Amino acid sequence: MKRKTISMPTSKRIALIAHDNMKKELLDWARTNLDQLNQHKLFATGTTGHLLEKGLGIDINKLISGPLGGDQQIGSMLTTMEMDMVIFFWDPFEAMPHDPDVKALLRIAAVWNVPVACNRSSADFLISSPLMSQAHQYQVPDYEAYLKERLPAL
Ligand code: PGA
Repeated sequence: MKRKTISMPTSKRIALIAHDNMKKELLDWARTNLDQLNQHKLFATGTTGHLLEKGLGIDINKLISGPLGGDQQIGSMLTTMEMDMVIFFWDPFEAMPHDPDVKALLRIAAVWNVPVACNRSSADFLISSPLMSQAHQYQVPDYEAYLKERLPAL
């Protein structure tokens, strides 16, 4: 796959998602890191977003709730480079009806080279990275080149 280099903005678009058993932990993490998070544009799946807004007193761009398609909405935003990062506290102890959506989101994040933190420790590393406060050059699939390779010559 050919790649091209693009620039991630200084102010990152961050998706926040937590499964029900992990919501308290995400709220606690977000509270601890509120000053840093306030430098960025925050998005969340429906229930997580309402909880964070209430708990933190800030505005969050809320997508639809995860089981109703919110994870897929975020996945779609990764493919159009409208989201730069995913903080996803998923529950490793419980099967979910929308497990296929979760798997799809993680796959698309891998395809588009998007940083993902799936637990508090990785979220700590991401949020404290010096790259959070500067534009960052990174590589994504070169879609034009991909199409050229795949389309048969007429
Ligand atoms: P929720 O969705 O924030 O609407 O609970 C999260 C999820 O289950 O993926």
